[in-house]
Amino acid sequence: MKPIALVTGASSGIGKAIAKQIADHYHLIICGRRTSRLEALSKELNNKTQTLIGSFDVRDQSAVSHFIDTLPDEWQNISILINNAGNAHGMSYIHEGDIQDWDAMIDINVKGLLYVSRAVIPKMIKKQHGHIINLGSIAGTDVYPRGNVYNASKFAVDALTKGMRMDLNTHGIKVSEIKPGLVKTEFSEVRFKGDLEKAKETYLGYHPLQAQDIAECIAFMLSRPKHVNIGDMIVLPLAQASSTLLNKQQK
Ligand code: NAP
Repeated sequence: MKPIALVTGASSGIGKAIAKQIADHYHLIICGRRTSRLEALSKELNNKTQTLIGSFDVRDQSAVSHFIDTLPDEWQNISILINNAGNAHGMSYIHEGDIQDWDAMIDINVKGLLYVSRAVIPKMIKKQHGHIINLGSIAGTDVYPRGNVYNASKFAVDALTKGMRMDLNTHGIKVSEIKPGLVKTEFSEVRFKGDLEKAKETYLGYHPLQAQDIAECIAFMLSRPKHVNIGDMIVLPLAQASSTLLNKQQK
């Protein structure tokens, strides 16, 4: 029996690439709101591994805890939690910010991560074993203009990762974070509310990271020997030096 990994945000981008990358080694609980996409992914992985679909909004604490608490017996034993679900919503000056965007980022990126973690971690504590990988961002170490609340949500992920690692230190549970720079996914489409031109512009003039690049790094983190915990990993495209320095004339 393969160990079980739960991946949030598996319907798109980095989460989907992670599921595909680790499918040979884990049975997968793939989560997100867009069930038809998760069904398509499940079909795609059918010849590699068993999958279970978790259709819930991470903002809905009772839906999260109900799903995790009522998992079929054979899916209870979660060894790996990839807290990946999240997005940026909008990009405005602080005095012009949309309150709904702020709520979405705090509720999904911070509270959603907490709700899923709170439901899963007791299962790991019982076994004194597990590995949690949180999707931070360089936006969580390096603020940029009009990034304000998204930055704050990823700084929170960074703090929570460090706090989790301390609180779980005596329980044999690894806690890691990965902080990507610019990755070409649906991230910018969501941030710019479906404005495809603006989303496309984000990735022009240089070679951005692909979701697969991050998935490979996560597979590396997961495949280290028992005594090795990669606490943090910053991964940037060659053209990006920081949140605010991007070479858009890349040859
Ligand atoms: P993406 O392609 O837009 O994927 C976001 C995923 O999160 C989707 O699967 C989405 O699924 C899920 N999600 C969003 N809101 C949710 C909610 N309320 N409940 C449940 N699931 C939700 O973006 P991505 O680039 O792969 O982003 C994945 C993670 O990487 C995020 O945490 C993001 O902050 C981080 N990151 C991205 C970049 C980048 O440049 N792309 C850089 C650094 C960090 P549904 O819509 O089906 O629910």
